[in-house]
Amino acid sequence: MPLYKDNSIKIYNSLSGEKEVFTPISEGYVGMYVCGPTVYSNVHLGNVRTFMSFDIIFRYLKHLGYKVRYVRNITDAGHLENDADVGEDRIAKKARLEEIEPMEVVQRYTVDFHNILNKFNFLPPSIEPTATGHIIEQIVIIKNILEKGLAYEINGSVYFDVLKYNETKPYGILSKRNVEDLLHNSRELDGQSDKKNPQDFALWKKAEPQHIMRWPSPWSDGFPGWHLECTAMSTKYLGEHFDIHGGGMDLKFPHHECEIAQAEASNDQAPVNYWMHANMLIMNGKKMAKSTGNFILPTEIFSGDNEHISKAFSPSVARFFMLQAHYRSILDFTNNGLLASEKGFFRLMDAINAIDDLVPATTSTFNIEEWQQKCYDAMNDDFNSPILIANLFEAAKFINQIKEGTATITQDDLTLLKNTMHNFAFDVLGLVNVTKTENGTEKLSGAVELLIQIRQEARENKDFSMSDKIRDELAAAGIQLNDGKEGTTFTTS
Ligand code: AMP
Ligand code: ZN
Repeated sequence: MPLYKDNSIKIYNSLSGEKEVFTPISEGYVGMYVCGPTVYSNVHLGNVRTFMSFDIIFRYLKHLGYKVRYVRNITDAGHLENDADVGEDRIAKKARLEEIEPMEVVQRYTVDFHNILNKFNFLPPSIEPTATGHIIEQIVIIKNILEKGLAYEINGSVYFDVLKYNETKPYGILSKRNVEDLLHNSRELDGQSDKKNPQDFALWKKAEPQHIMRWPSPWSDGFPGWHLECTAMSTKYLGEHFDIHGGGMDLKFPHHECEIAQAEASNDQAPVNYWMHANMLIMNGKKMAKSTGNFILPTEIFSGDNEHISKAFSPSVARFFMLQAHYRSILDFTNNGLLASEKGFFRLMDAINAIDDLVPATTSTFNIEEWQQKCYDAMNDDFNSPILIANLFEAAKFINQIKEGTATITQDDLTLLKNTMHNFAFDVLGLVNVTKTENGTEKLSGAVELLIQIRQEARENKDFSMSDKIRDELAAAGIQLNDGKEGTTFTTS
């Protein structure tokens, strides 16, 4: 019997502002859409945090036996510098500055995004569609909305008519804003004059002659508005009505609000049952963001090469650091926080690795079943990873007591303890079993030695591109290979 039958999850739904019991539309199946990155620069640790929040949600739903279709898009067109539909396309701007094709920008940063997520041991989504791959679907939705009279065309651009929509359906239900307030708070920005009302948003924008990212449409050669791609791709792969939509807190307005309005206007139904928003990673008291320069790159964490940190940290330690906060809490990035997480992380890994050496007894002095239930309860309560981790530490303490001879465990309980620890630490939290050796270097148990061996074989076969790749990838992960007379050893930075 799948585990989800015994585990009722509660999800905090941003739409209702309450924790609600999760009931999927089709029993046993979950459709989840998460807004992906705009691939115009390297992802910073803040971006990684949001995607990690949904990685563990994906992992836990799968662990419970749900068949999850997880769609996370790549935004490769339409996201302008300013969220109010003005300014240059972020990708086109980067291409102009670097004197390369926009698609070269997209390729470069999509590869970087995947590399970074792989280092953090993310599971790939089920589908990773791109905005430029779904222009036709976006045009179809615009036609639908125009037919319903909820959008208008002006000078080759099409805008969503927020006031008209608001006559029959409330605009602002997710971000709890009302149209009147929006009207008062909207600033007139250059280029916005085409709109009937400042709170309207672009579905299609006519491209200026210098705008190179353009596609033909019934209205003009142009490009879709940023919000539309997510409506098009979520509808295409998950249907007009699906279970979970996620993203960072900062996407609630205008992006997700506009998605709701577009989908309601086009399909006459609410698109999503549970809206989930992950909170921000902050540094120096401010949101981590590329635009303000207040950010740290994952590669800087792995190399230690950043003024905010005193040393390098492995991806698993950084992952553990982020999962020690609940996804709806703000997390402050600090060196001390990372150092504390590193200690805790190795303590946990050491305990897990010690399980195999424990000698069973005839009785258990710890109720393993009750403890296991507490682990599930934590994750069932809106994916509370910090409480789960606190439970894993409780087990680590027990393991150490057994080692010291002050506690005992039966063989059956030992098996249950090991399986539960492995399931939660590795499958659900996605940690990788890195341990610390006596001389203080981190060791990816066995795996680095294996890579050293494969590299040695590659060198013997004169496959230097492979041997260099192994060395460079390990270096990027903070592991330096040192070739000596006695063979290859490694150090961590
Ligand atoms: P972008 O590439 O700008 O569209 O952002 C990708 C994702 O990262 C979005 O879901 C954002 O909400 C999220 N994000 C951006 N900055 C932060 C931050 N400081 N902390 C957490 N998530 C963030
Ligand atoms: Zn989106």
